[in-house]
Amino acid sequence: MTGWQEIGDRVFVRRYAFYDQNIGVVVGDGGLLLVDTRVSHRQAEEIRDDIRSISSLPVTSVVNTHGHSDHAFGNHVFRPATIWGHERCATMIASTGERQRERLANVMPELADELAEVVLDPPDRTFETTTTVEVDPGGRTVELRYLGRGHTDNDIVITVPGADVLFAGDLLENDATPYFGDAFPLDWPGTVERVVEFATGVVVPGHGTIGDRGFVVRQMTEFRSIAELARLGADDRLDIDAAVLRTPYRADEARQPLERALVQLAGELD
Ligand SMILES: [Zn+2]
Repeated sequence: MTGWQEIGDRVFVRRYAFYDQNIGVVVGDGGLLLVDTRVSHRQAEEIRDDIRSISSLPVTSVVNTHGHSDHAFGNHVFRPATIWGHERCATMIASTGERQRERLANVMPELADELAEVVLDPPDRTFETTTTVEVDPGGRTVELRYLGRGHTDNDIVITVPGADVLFAGDLLENDATPYFGDAFPLDWPGTVERVVEFATGVVVPGHGTIGDRGFVVRQMTEFRSIAELARLGADDRLDIDAAVLRTPYRADEARQPLERALVQLAGELD
């Protein structure tokens, strides 16, 4: 079972080198539920092969934590499984999927061929606030919750009753500066504050090292500082170059979070 870590009763995580991404599997009696599908069919097929070292059961359900390419572009490989996500996750993939594909192929030309073969396949089962998904009919369940805007407008968290585990998607990232390109930086701290309530055990970020409640609280504090520094900037009490040096992030990566927060403060994201 090399590569997979059992982090709760029949709940597994594998950390892939590409994007330092975490992929989750919940094992039921008659099927498997997969959390996120990676950026291409090739990468999704790698998950499908790797899963065989855990179980020979079929993947019956997939959950997308949000609508970014690295979490959803492998979806099609797992059909006929049902695919779950927030209702705006489906919208995001349908409306920005081609743009995401194009942008990524420009940044990583070596991925262009495998990105070209991706069939965009958004969630067909969506929800707004909370829902329960059966891993197998009448069997094990997982809970999906939307707790507010943050990394995107459609991030959800997944908890597994009976296993003290929470999958946070990219609401939390470890070992790297979180990606703010589609974020709502003023909402993000409050959303992570709500994640804390559910973070009673193992917490799996979308990318990087697995953590616990303390990790969630630290991230909440960091998101708060970005929102506060941006507010000072918007009030002309701090210039952006000075603010960059005061964030918890590497100076060369701190500008994007602050600028995105300023855009939201200016009312341009609603
Ligand atoms: Zn993301």
